[in-house]
Amino acid sequence: MLKTLKFFYSIAWRERRDYIVLLLISIILNVGQPFLNLIIPKFILEELVGGRRPDVLIELAACITLGNMLFMALIHIVKTNLAKCDDWFDRYLNDGISQKSMSMDFALTENPQALNQYRKASEGIAWYSGGMKGLSESVQMFFSYIFTVAGVMFIVAVKSPVLLVVAIFAVVGGSVAVWQTNKCYKIEFEVFPKVNRAFAYVTGSVLEPRYSKCIRLYHAASMMRDQFEETTKQCAKIFGYTAVKIGRWNCIGSLVNFLKNLCIYGYLGYMFLIGNINIGDFALLTGSANTLKDSLQGVLNQVQDLRKKLNFMEEYVKFINMREDTKLGSLPVDTNKIPMIEFRHVSFRYPSVKEYVLKDVNIVIPQGQHLSVVGLNGAGKTTFIKLLCRLYEVDEGEILLNGVNIKDYDYDAYMKALAVVFQDFKLFALSMRENIKLGDSEKEEQDLRSVCELSGLANKIDTLPKGLDTQIYKFFDKEGIEPSGGEMQKMAIARALYKDAPIVVLDEPTAALDPIAEHEVYSHFDKLVGGKTAIYISHRLSSCKFCDMIAVFADNTIKEYGSHEELIKKQGGFYAEMFSAQAKYYA
Ligand code: ADP
Repeated sequence: MLKTLKFFYSIAWRERRDYIVLLLISIILNVGQPFLNLIIPKFILEELVGGRRPDVLIELAACITLGNMLFMALIHIVKTNLAKCDDWFDRYLNDGISQKSMSMDFALTENPQALNQYRKASEGIAWYSGGMKGLSESVQMFFSYIFTVAGVMFIVAVKSPVLLVVAIFAVVGGSVAVWQTNKCYKIEFEVFPKVNRAFAYVTGSVLEPRYSKCIRLYHAASMMRDQFEETTKQCAKIFGYTAVKIGRWNCIGSLVNFLKNLCIYGYLGYMFLIGNINIGDFALLTGSANTLKDSLQGVLNQVQDLRKKLNFMEEYVKFINMREDTKLGSLPVDTNKIPMIEFRHVSFRYPSVKEYVLKDVNIVIPQGQHLSVVGLNGAGKTTFIKLLCRLYEVDEGEILLNGVNIKDYDYDAYMKALAVVFQDFKLFALSMRENIKLGDSEKEEQDLRSVCELSGLANKIDTLPKGLDTQIYKFFDKEGIEPSGGEMQKMAIARALYKDAPIVVLDEPTAALDPIAEHEVYSHFDKLVGGKTAIYISHRLSSCKFCDMIAVFADNTIKEYGSHEELIKKQGGFYAEMFSAQAKYYA
């Protein structure tokens, strides 16, 4: 718990020292004001029943009213400035989540536990804990109560020590109630992110165009409604359970408070009646005993509240500390050299999956070779590319680029050597230009135009009033376009070509293209990838004809390897069988 506290306040110390100063001033103000309102009324009452001197009464009244005004004004100023810092912190912490999401180990992005942790982190610093604002409020209150307790304890111990016992009993009773209530909130926090994720999926998908088409065409509305009802039921069950428990413990808390008041006012009333204390002391002691009880209770509540908030915020720390994509290599990649790739006895299985997806894969892709990769669904073709891209590390064997293990290359330099279009590539809600350039501002505008022409996107751009500056999607611009599947694919190809890397990998690049566009990609393939080393994954075996070599993936390895002419002749061969099955329909 203290580690979490240290984590957040060391950020504050490092980045915003004014935040810490404001917190300290706020604590001083929080402690000062109650004492002003405890001590001055004692003297006012004593003056009213005693000397009744108007000038003294005016001075005391001025002291309490102006003092309170001054406190209020200062508290307001400090709060306003703290709110600005809290805003800054909110952005800082959320930025931390998005930076981490982009830098964490890629395998974690496909891991449900890690995705859950992401949600817990976001909710932990916002909804449940109230973020840095919520945490700092508790820290301020905690220290304010501690100092207030010390002050009023001194007054009560000197004047009426019995009241200390009453206050302590009341605090113990009240704390049990608060502790039990917090336990309920913890239960909610444990269960809620899971239900929430399901809820967000069920409610969000109904609106998303790609789902809403299926919902309408396959009458899936009632299935979605059932899912929605199930999720709502789960939420209601959790809330119902915790609401009853919280209500019960709130009642117990109120009863304890009632008994405490009975004891304080009964005892002090009696002392006043028998003449042991005067009216000023009566006011001071009832006020102090109540303040003592409230402050002691406050200390315990804040300890529990801090624990609760820090538990939630710890999820953020856990997420931020998740495994980074640490890439250790440091060798430069010679981008002027046409690369040679080699997989040597490579075996791999996904984390937490027992079976190997690839087993003892061996292949050499010489400089400038265009390799076609084919195989049935799930044969491991995309995994082969993911390994080449260092998104996962091989379990056995090694992958070499120009004879050097790819792990030994500087990661950024290695990434620059690869231009990859995955099947599940994504376009961003940015302009077409930004989507193709992706932050690369070095190249000329002319390069942009030529890749658009090569990928077949230029015709579309010419029809758009804003050309390349047209926004994709309507998130940020109502004039943004919803590109078709084929247009998106062309944009992804343009993005890869613009990168102008020496290795080009296209994973099913024509799946969404119309036959004419597909034919263009095939016939321009040499122009598209030039003399670069290229890997082309496709189900359309006709695409293999324009590649130099073909690797057929099956049974978790490369089952067949050769040119189209060689493989087609292989009697009973896997490739020959697949090719003749497709040829029947495409001949
Ligand atoms: P292909 O591209 O040939 O269709 P993939 O390489 O995508 O095949 O997948 C190969 C196998 O690995 C499939 O059985 C698939 O379900 C499994 N797989 C893919 N990604 C993951 C993952 N992140 N975790 C576990 N299994 C995966």
